[in-house]
Amino acid sequence: MTDLIYDVEEVSSHTVANTTGLGRGNVGAVSLRNFVIAIDSTIYAKTAQLFRKNLENHFNLSVKFLIFTHYHADHIFGIGAFKDIVSFCSEQMLKNMQSNSIKQAYEQRVSEFIKADPLAEGVVFELPDVAFNNKLIIRDEDLYIEAIHTGGHTSGSSIVYFPYEKVLFAGDLIFTNMFPFAGDATCNPEQYIKALEMMKEMKPDLIIPGHGKVLKGYNALDEYIQFFKDFRATIKSAISDGIAPEKVEITASFELDRPDLKVSSVNHWYNFYKKAL
Ligand SMILES: [Zn+2]
Repeated sequence: MTDLIYDVEEVSSHTVANTTGLGRGNVGAVSLRNFVIAIDSTIYAKTAQLFRKNLENHFNLSVKFLIFTHYHADHIFGIGAFKDIVSFCSEQMLKNMQSNSIKQAYEQRVSEFIKADPLAEGVVFELPDVAFNNKLIIRDEDLYIEAIHTGGHTSGSSIVYFPYEKVLFAGDLIFTNMFPFAGDATCNPEQYIKALEMMKEMKPDLIIPGHGKVLKGYNALDEYIQFFKDFRATIKSAISDGIAPEKVEITASFELDRPDLKVSSVNHWYNFYKKAL
């Protein structure tokens, strides 16, 4: 494992990301004037350690804070590499992690993961230090970032925006060119679409997704907004036509590497709108 490479790619002069998928969930970071803020921690302790080391090498500054976009394992299990610094998440994300069902499932997942995958050594399920409501601003001299709680992909999901360079970290609200996972138990379809529309209104130049490659220009979001609106319309008409969820046909130009994500997304949205009717 000594030859594992987990580098950072420059997105803009103050921001970097790793979108290779080697740490499962993407990670990113912003350098302000005197320190770096990391966003998400990958699923592995080893990739998280390399991420932090490479951030410090790239910017020649220390990583001072870590912000989590949401509670999914592929974004939080590397937290151990950032134990000595302050980590942030939305209050709802903290509640997600403290709920009995998630806590139990994730603690079990950690122990199984460590047994099954040599790269998983050092993985932990630990809560972030500080929770914010609605919005968090971290400022350093003339630069700042905003973390905004949007919900959607999960009820605790947040995005992070760096206005100085118009770079937006979307977390798992965006899966670039692949069928998204929209089947989390806490996923709210209406908030999902609202969050994407809000992201577009912010007019970012660069969007770093939770999975897949960086999107350029806010018009790139149109395809994703349309996808979810079409998805919603298909689900709603299936419900009113009495079509069972397993018979619902979704047409999307996205890659479908994991059909299980599609099945869980369809089931979740179906049940959500069925209840709402
Ligand atoms: Zn996720």
